[in-house]
Amino acid sequence: MSTASIQRADEVIAGTYKRFPVVLTRGSGCTLWDESGREYTDFVAGIAVCNLGHAHPQVAEALCRQARTLWHVSNLFYTTPQMELASWLTARSFADRVFFCNSGAEANEAAIKLARKYFKTAGQPNRFRIISMEQSFHGRTMATLSATGQEKVKAGFDPLLEGFDFAPFDDIAALRAKVGPDTAAVMLEPIQGEGGVRCPQPDYLKQVRALCDEAGLLLIFDEIQTGMGRTGTLFAYEPSGVAPDIMTLAKALANGLPMGAMLAREPVAAAFGPGSHASTFGGTPIVSAAALEVCRTLERDGVLDHARRVSDHFRERLEWLKGRHALVEEVRGRGLLLGIRLAVEGEPFVHACMARGFLINCVQGNVLRFVPPLVIGVEQIDALVACLDEIFGAARQGRVGNHGG
Ligand SMILES: *Cc1c(COP(=O)(O)O)cnc(C)c1O
Repeated sequence: MSTASIQRADEVIAGTYKRFPVVLTRGSGCTLWDESGREYTDFVAGIAVCNLGHAHPQVAEALCRQARTLWHVSNLFYTTPQMELASWLTARSFADRVFFCNSGAEANEAAIKLARKYFKTAGQPNRFRIISMEQSFHGRTMATLSATGQEKVKAGFDPLLEGFDFAPFDDIAALRAKVGPDTAAVMLEPIQGEGGVRCPQPDYLKQVRALCDEAGLLLIFDEIQTGMGRTGTLFAYEPSGVAPDIMTLAKALANGLPMGAMLAREPVAAAFGPGSHASTFGGTPIVSAAALEVCRTLERDGVLDHARRVSDHFRERLEWLKGRHALVEEVRGRGLLLGIRLAVEGEPFVHACMARGFLINCVQGNVLRFVPPLVIGVEQIDALVACLDEIFGAARQGRVGNHGG
């Protein structure tokens, strides 16, 4: 790795990230290479973004084809890729309409605006409050950080946007107690990703839906991390048997090109008319064409079936690790959004994995999160598990460090 280019980057790029001291230059499938030619198996996937892996040939081809055809014209005009992508998404979800934008935070901004507009349009202008969850993550813009239930995201940015209340995740009684006459919506992640790969009880989403119906509230699911097959179904809400009124997507939607989307049922979506909301780049042909190919590939190649199969194996191997190492306290997650909660700080293990050629990440200080491309193979999973087994064993003997194989 070139220390000179890393030093230069640290001088000229905003200091908002703590980066690993490595310059990644190339990727293919689930493998990444740094500038010294070192190889890594990727269990981060750009933080649950590159679901089809890196440099996917069909997606690259669709992108190149669109690059030679039409990049951008604005939303003053109709374009085919955007129309086809919206058709694909609505045909496979509860939603009737899609608003396209460029990131997760923007998708949640759109959802928050739509919830407010819906009640204004319905003649209930005082209903603007949104209940979201403790330990949630909804983004870094002023509205979405105001909706986020983590102090470390908000510190230093007050005054925050008004109108957000917080309830503990996976506690229906506590949520019910937060509902007031001004409440417009409940907003939550079906599985909390940044919050530590936390899955609620199996009937929780159903109970939240029932509560929303009873109190006339909109239900917003932030599926920015869980959507597009990450949890083994196209959307994480599917196995719950209930659907939201509004859902947000981003991360994996275009496999790494910036794209967000806010989907809604018709009566709710109707509150957004011409001029209500807009985005210059939202749903631009070049990104939509890539996203459309991502969607088609997920189905054509049976990627979700594969993800569910390898997830069962991965979980079983993580449980095996838990049986062998007392510092592994819990195996969490669904599909290929998996994590293990440790009794100790997780960061040293992230570095130890990296030194052995595996990229993983750590959330909430002590949860190792595994979000590989959905096309990850069993052999790659087994290799990571062997690596974890070795470094957990070394940790027991007080030898965890950055210097491995
Ligand atoms: C990543 C993420 C966001 C924010 O997405 P950005 O594209 O970084 O703005 C919002 N919600 C959830 C659940 C996420 O995982």
